[in-house]
Amino acid sequence: MKKAKYIIRKMTVGLTKSCKKVGDVKVLSRIILWCAGLMVLVALGVVLFYKPVRDAVFIPPEVKTVVEVKSGDTLSKILGGKGFSMRDIDTISKTLKKDADFVTLRPGRDKFEFVQKDENQPISKIVIKNGPWRQMELSCGETGTWECQKIDIQRDTRVTYKTGEILDGDSFYLAGMRAGIPAGILADVYDLLAFEMDFERDVRAGQHFYVLYEENYASEKMVDTGHVLAVSFEALRGNVQMYRFVKSDGGVGYYDEHGNGAIKSLKRTPINNAKITSSFSGRRKHPVLGFTRAHKGVDFRAPTGTPIPAAGAGRVVARSFNRGHGNFVKIRHNGTFETLYAHMSRFAKGVNVGTVVRQGQIIGYSGSTGLSTGPHLHYEIIKNGQHVNPMTVKLPAINNLDAANKKTFMEYKQQLDNTINSLKENPTQIMRL
Ligand SMILES: [Zn+2]
Repeated sequence: MKKAKYIIRKMTVGLTKSCKKVGDVKVLSRIILWCAGLMVLVALGVVLFYKPVRDAVFIPPEVKTVVEVKSGDTLSKILGGKGFSMRDIDTISKTLKKDADFVTLRPGRDKFEFVQKDENQPISKIVIKNGPWRQMELSCGETGTWECQKIDIQRDTRVTYKTGEILDGDSFYLAGMRAGIPAGILADVYDLLAFEMDFERDVRAGQHFYVLYEENYASEKMVDTGHVLAVSFEALRGNVQMYRFVKSDGGVGYYDEHGNGAIKSLKRTPINNAKITSSFSGRRKHPVLGFTRAHKGVDFRAPTGTPIPAAGAGRVVARSFNRGHGNFVKIRHNGTFETLYAHMSRFAKGVNVGTVVRQGQIIGYSGSTGLSTGPHLHYEIIKNGQHVNPMTVKLPAINNLDAANKKTFMEYKQQLDNTINSLKENPTQIMRL
């Protein structure tokens, strides 16, 4: 090293000296000589440097082939396609059932990864990715037996806070997307707010909202989103706030800031993100009949074929056709409430008179049957036999909290509020509950 420095210094000095007598042939030949010397030195360095690498033992990289599960694929079809014998397939399938209670393949979601030591070796490992949080590793032993190991991928759940504002001419959906709320979370938020809000009349420019929700990470990478933990919307009729809470018996619900059940027995808006085209009124001019008569429900714009979910749990008491309503379904929810859905293009499979439906279950598809000017959902709420305005009727909560749970809830709510405040100040910090 010292010698190299000496040579370089000497060369530099030589060059500087030579510059003073440019034009002299002798000097020129000296420069060429120095340059040649330098090149030899560099070449020597390269050879010395790369020698150990050149001599290292070459390890061929593992060969990995990924097969995505398509519809119609079976375990034997996939393994057969990779050249496994019927006997191997049978052993692998039994091992999977026994050690990993693996039953079904999900097309479009599951993946197989086949690993070979190198391309001339047989497959010695199969990794089945059965969902983002679960994978199974099958390895072939010396004697040709297969062993299976179920691996649960560690889930790192973090909380994220997103806030937004309604702008002029905006919908909540657009404002939510702009705020960066993922589509799946936004749909859940809609489902929740639909219990309390009329998205048509309660939404105005200048209103603020926020959502606190879970994001699941694996190896520092976001894999999917989890639950909506809290949501707040400055609605026209007052601030709507909801918090997710797990009760002592494990039951999960959403509650307002006072601990009252936020999930109501019925939804005011059965179809998410649907525009109201006609409101409930005692009197209105009927668009088809032409004369004035009451509009006993609310009309939601919905292209033909839009799935219609049941507004609440109950039993189907009518599934029929009449001149006014066209195809309609009526559900009795309890002693007090009934709901009716009209102008359907068709009914959902398995929905008949007497069918018990849960909240959100699809009962039919929108259309324009009966007295209707275009595809829409006509939705009625009937309370004790009287038609009421779905947007304003007071609806009972499904599950309120008892005293002990309410106390725990209020403490937990404080914790969520603190988290929200921290994230408001520093949105990029990593927070877990
Ligand atoms: Zn109507």
